[in-house]
Amino acid sequence: MKKDLIIPQTCPHCEGKGYIEIRDCSGEIQREETCFFCEGTGEFIPEKDQSRITNLDSEQEDRSIKN
Ligand SMILES: [Zn+2]
Repeated sequence: MKKDLIIPQTCPHCEGKGYIEIRDCSGEIQREETCFFCEGTGEFIPEKDQSRITNLDSEQEDRSIKN
């Protein structure tokens, strides 16, 4: 992975819209909420995600060492 190459990708959570449609059980749109995943930008930076995943990984390693 090239660390210096950051390409914003379309947010998979809201499909790049920046908001999520909240629907009721009949499928009618009740309201729109800002997408928490991309914070309304419609894009997400993979780099951001990776640092989170790395943190989780090191936490899991810590746990396995203790066990
Ligand atoms: Zn989003």
